[in-house]
Amino acid sequence: MDAGSIIIGSVKKLTKSFKGGVRLIEHKYTKNSPIERCPDPDTVSISLTQHIGVMCRPTVKAGDRVLEGQLIGEIPGGLGCPVHASVSGTVLRIEEVTTAAGGTSYNIVIENDKQHCISPEVQTFGKKLSEAGSDEIIAAVRRAGIAGMGGTAFPTHAKLSASRGKADRIIVNCCESEPFVCANHRIILEYPEEVIAGAKIMAAAVGVREVWLAVESDRRDEAARLSRHLQNGGIVSVRKISSKYPSGSEKQLVSALMGVEIGEGKTPIDAGCVVFNSETCMAVYEAFAKGLPLIGRVVTVDGDCVAQPKNLLVPIGTSMSHLIDCCGGLCNEPKKIIAGGPMMGTAQWDPDAPVTKNTSAVLVLSKFFDRESKLPPVCIRCGRCVRACPMKLMPLKIAAYSDRGQLDKCESFGALSCIECGCCTYVCPGGVPVAQTVARAKSAIIAKRRRAVSQGK
Ligand code: SF4
Ligand code: SF4
Repeated sequence: MDAGSIIIGSVKKLTKSFKGGVRLIEHKYTKNSPIERCPDPDTVSISLTQHIGVMCRPTVKAGDRVLEGQLIGEIPGGLGCPVHASVSGTVLRIEEVTTAAGGTSYNIVIENDKQHCISPEVQTFGKKLSEAGSDEIIAAVRRAGIAGMGGTAFPTHAKLSASRGKADRIIVNCCESEPFVCANHRIILEYPEEVIAGAKIMAAAVGVREVWLAVESDRRDEAARLSRHLQNGGIVSVRKISSKYPSGSEKQLVSALMGVEIGEGKTPIDAGCVVFNSETCMAVYEAFAKGLPLIGRVVTVDGDCVAQPKNLLVPIGTSMSHLIDCCGGLCNEPKKIIAGGPMMGTAQWDPDAPVTKNTSAVLVLSKFFDRESKLPPVCIRCGRCVRACPMKLMPLKIAAYSDRGQLDKCESFGALSCIECGCCTYVCPGGVPVAQTVARAKSAIIAKRRRAVSQGK
């Protein structure tokens, strides 16, 4: 037990925190809205690059009939996750698309027959957890195409493999500190047993004897709901962390709970733990218990332009415009559509962009949420960005060097440690786009390093 901590039942009473961060207005208008099944879309467009790693190779072609849960894209080799049909129907085409980040991807477009015909490939694991070996569990997670559903979309099977023999503990990230987003919150309230079961399956795969369910301190309903399904003395317990942004960031979560900093180039495994999102745990449970690949997820559809905000269970590949229609359409003039939260999400230029494995929210915001100042940005050296930075950086310095093109200086001030949380921009009274400038420096440094590697320097 950590010094000074007290466990009562399965809930640790002491709330832990991390340095920096900000308190945001929550705007969690759908926190009491139960998850609803999204009405069937006419088509889905399933990306072949919705994870970190190599692009999938399609295993189907235009005109093929596909069934729900059928493999439609496999990994040719290297890091990645296969993709599966989220509906039954007919493949219309495989098309080249431009992603929100400006890259190129290929999507498989399927016309939905709305019959929900399940593929014979969908088979339960067929063994009890106590009889399953680590390799078998990890292979099942890989087959199910599970990638981190909290944002990074890192292949879960690779994370499990990498942490075997190195991690002593799994931390389940139940923190959802981005405004508006309630998908995780609803999953924890409605499916606590499945989340816990998924975490235990991953504990068996990694070989750890301890699982911490990390919840934000002001989410008493989550802690209570999870605790109801825990046994005293079992391997799973609830830990509370301070409700501030970005508590959902892996590095801040580990810093708060373990008291160690995860700096540049380090991962939670360096602190002896591995972190999985709560929805990812549920996906692992679904794969193990029902043989279901990752073909759907819960998405919060909200923002001041959405008429009836909801939490929807959505087939992967559903267009954002369909989700907005299912929520009563638009009620204000939209300025921005964001996939994910307003702080770390990605602005979309195409309202028909599809939901991917890591889309936790679709937000449609009006100019009311646009923080662009009409005045030229100016740094008044107030130091607020330094106090807010959860990675203990000096964002104003990095931004200034970035503006002058001094990448070496940016690097020496730790630009590569930036987690792109946006706290520095949020607190800046001078309207300086600090986070964007630091992120630009980070990208330029990474590109420079890649160039040097390719030139053999
Ligand atoms: S918060 Fe803005 S004004 Fe204050 S030091 Fe940082 S960049 Fe300058
Ligand atoms: S965006 Fe980067 S520099 Fe700014 S507060 Fe977050 S981690 Fe620090």
